[in-house]
This record gives sequence, structure tokens and C-alpha cells, in this order.
Amino acid sequence: MSSIDPISKNDDILFECKPDSLCGNLCCCGINQTLTGYDILKLSRLKNLTTDKFLKRYTFSYTGKQTKIPVVSLFEQPDKNNACIFLDSSCTVYDARPLSCRLYPVARGISKDKRTGKLIEHFAVINEDQCTGFGKGNYMSVSEWILDQKASDYIEANDFFMNLILDISSKNTVLDKSMKDIFIKGCYNLDLLLEDIRNLQTSIKTDIKELENNPLLLFKTGVEWTRSQILN
Ligand code: SF4
Ligand code: SF4
Repeated sequence: MSSIDPISKNDDILFECKPDSLCGNLCCCGINQTLTGYDILKLSRLKNLTTDKFLKRYTFSYTGKQTKIPVVSLFEQPDKNNACIFLDSSCTVYDARPLSCRLYPVARGISKDKRTGKLIEHFAVINEDQCTGFGKGNYMSVSEWILDQKASDYIEANDFFMNLILDISSKNTVLDKSMKDIFIKGCYNLDLLLEDIRNLQTSIKTDIKELENNPLLLFKTGVEWTRSQILN
């Protein structure tokens, strides 16, 4: 029976996913894979597309039910069990796969300590019957798993973004159409923001070459710009 079991960062998991697993890749089907702007930057660079073209070709957006904030998700393949648009016989964007794909079967959530304002991490293991990866490979703590899956920069980006979402929610800020457009440009469609910075259409003064070559810096710059436009 499938279950979601809380786990600490120091606890071990015994798990290995190989491309030839006879599991049908059900972990990539019907999951509504949402993306951060950092995921979008990494995927669009892998695909050699601008973020604008990537968003139009592979994603759809909507307003989150609880947060009321724009959310971006990958298209699915309805004729293939609602598989992620990037699933063929295995993941076709493996080197740029999003954070939740990297961490699976570990799930990570965060909350904010009301007293200190610091983010607190929560982890769980998703035990799904159809997954054949459990009990294989080497024991690894969750911390080691994060390093093994090269997920640290994705986590840094995710938490930077979630801080903005939590602040928007805590101030009960409702985004109107123009604010949603700002949010989409600053948090998701970062090549459009980069173009504005190049054309001196924002107050951001920075080294353009560094922004072009450092997706994490570009993403954080976009999130901070969004914060300055929406919350200040
Ligand atoms: S990006 Fe790759 S690993 Fe993630 S859901 Fe899609 S196919 Fe699966
Ligand atoms: S994580 Fe599990 S379900 Fe997903 S491809 Fe690997 S073995 Fe299959």
C-alpha cells in the first residue's frame, strides 16, 4: 500500500532508480509537474530556447487556488497516461529535471518560523507500490541524497522563491492583472526581464554578462525585482 512517511535529514533511504526499471515510469504520470523560474531557466537552456519560447511550447499557467499567485506547470501527454511532456522511454531532460523529480522518492516542504522568520525544512518518503526503486542501491542519508541528485542549487532557488510567496500570502496581497504580469516576468519568464535590464528599462544595475552566465543569480535577481514591484 502506498504511503507518505515523515523522515529526518539524517535518516537513511535505500533507493535507486535505473533507466531500465520495469515500472512504467508512473512517477512521471498525472503529477501536474509545477515549475519554479529556476527550473524554467535550466530547462530552457537545455532546450536551447528562450524562457518565453519554452513557456509557450511546454507549459501552461493558471492562478493557484490557495495562493492566488500564478503557477506554471508542464504539459502532459493525454494519450500516454498523462505522462509528463518530457517522458519518452525515460526522462528526456534528465540533466535539467526539476527539483521534485531530483528528490523523488523524497518530498521536501518548508514552513516559516513565525518568531525567527527562518525557513524550516520537512521531509517525507513517498512509498508508492508501483516504484521498483526501493531496497536497491546504497544506503544514503537524505542530505547525501540531495548532494547525489545535484539538488542544492534548486533548493536554494526554491526557498528564495517560497520566501516571496509566503510574504505575499502573509500580507494578504491580492495580485491584479498588471501585478500578475510582473510576477510572471520576474519569477518565470526571466529572459524577458533580462532583455528589459539590457535595455535599461528597469532600475536593476548589474553586470549583464554575469546574469547571462549564472541562472541562479538571474532567478534571484528576478524574484527580488518582483518583490520590489509588488510588496514595496
Ligand atoms: S521532467 Fe523528467 S523526471 Fe520529471 S516528471 Fe518529467 S519526465 Fe519525469
Ligand atoms: S522513481 Fe520509481 S517509479 Fe519512477 S522511474 Fe524510478 S523506479 Fe520507476
